[in-house]
Amino acid sequence: MTTDRHMTRRELAEAQDAQDVLAPMRARFALPQGVIYLDGNSLGPLPHDLRARVTRTLDEEWGQGLIRSWNDAGWIDLPERIGTRIARLIGAPVQSVLAADSTSINLFKLLSAALALRPERRVIVSERGNFPTDLYMAQGLIAQLDRGHRLVLVDDASEIPAALDGDTAVLMLTHVDYRSGAMHDMGALTRLAHEANALVLWDLAHSAGAVPLDLAGADVDFAVGCGYKYLNGGPGAPAFFHVAPRHADAFVQPLAGWFGHDAPFAFEPEYRPAPGAARYLCGTPPILAMAALDAALTLWDDVDIDAVRAKSLALTGAFIDTVEALCPDAGLTLITPRDPARRGSQVSFHHPQAYAVMQALIARGVIGDFRAPDILRFGFTPLYTRFVDVFDAVSVLAEVLETRSYTHPDFQKRARVT
Ligand SMILES: *Cc1c(COP(=O)(O)O)cnc(C)c1O
Repeated sequence: MTTDRHMTRRELAEAQDAQDVLAPMRARFALPQGVIYLDGNSLGPLPHDLRARVTRTLDEEWGQGLIRSWNDAGWIDLPERIGTRIARLIGAPVQSVLAADSTSINLFKLLSAALALRPERRVIVSERGNFPTDLYMAQGLIAQLDRGHRLVLVDDASEIPAALDGDTAVLMLTHVDYRSGAMHDMGALTRLAHEANALVLWDLAHSAGAVPLDLAGADVDFAVGCGYKYLNGGPGAPAFFHVAPRHADAFVQPLAGWFGHDAPFAFEPEYRPAPGAARYLCGTPPILAMAALDAALTLWDDVDIDAVRAKSLALTGAFIDTVEALCPDAGLTLITPRDPARRGSQVSFHHPQAYAVMQALIARGVIGDFRAPDILRFGFTPLYTRFVDVFDAVSVLAEVLETRSYTHPDFQKRARVT
């Protein structure tokens, strides 16, 4: 692109939008007027295709087809069909990925499998700053097993290599940090864990649909991820899991349900696991939510994930640069890595009044979110975020900080969900 030095920042953003190969994707989402949505990393917006699909599932498949639709409309295959779409996005072998349950529940199942595959070892290594549900599920599993397992937490990623030793059963990490947006080197850390003869479990909640992934190339053992963030499957959408084919037949998961049985409709009294990763299914899938997620994933048929990454880095880079240019000395401290190779698709800042600042931004139509204790978090989702949105959002942020409008008492009240 030619950058005329007389162009204003906003004109430059318009020029970037005019050349954006992903620009047509924006029309496929229902985005409210007057809103700049920078929270698709927490809840993706509604894709138009999803509405039509869910309506069909309701009116035709359920309303008319009734129970016949388990076969006739392919409801029974949805966890696998969705898994196949996600496998392509995350570079995993087909049939190693299925949609099921929530990320938390999938963590429990896979962590349990990992510990069972290393019966002589007692330690799960993770980060103190990992997403709390990941740590809670590990703590709950350890208590349940009651066999002297320990959760060892490091305070900084640089301490991970030294924490891996002959007692490490599994290294459990979130690939892109939900607070800072810092991204781990999946290949290098997986290799290190394997050198210690430990297994890895990656949480891809902030990675799937945000950054290119190569689970097969990195030789990842286990992974989980979220359907309602960058995959736009809707609030509480089903999650997904990945089990490497070499482990898939090796262990019976703890939540042995009939959907993971080899022959659910034989109604046998004894559990016999299905071959492969399908044994990690549990009970009847929520079909309306599965249909919604499946429809949302069709958007990725028309998208090159490398183009998504290129635009994501351009958006996050532009946001950082524009904040630094328009909001100097405003009390903001960048906590996201400046090195593009080390960040996911979000930008976060510390601010002493982060909660109130975010409420003031939301009141002005710029929706990001707040993460305790003092983080302003902005997600950049290349399928529908424009470069002008970056500029306009920063302009509003600059004004909120300059006028101190965030000090209004309305912006101090904490809601249940932040
Ligand atoms: C969002 C998120 C989750 C969410 O788990 P749920 O079971 O869907 O509530 C888990 N892990 C990470 C890292 C997340 O960011």
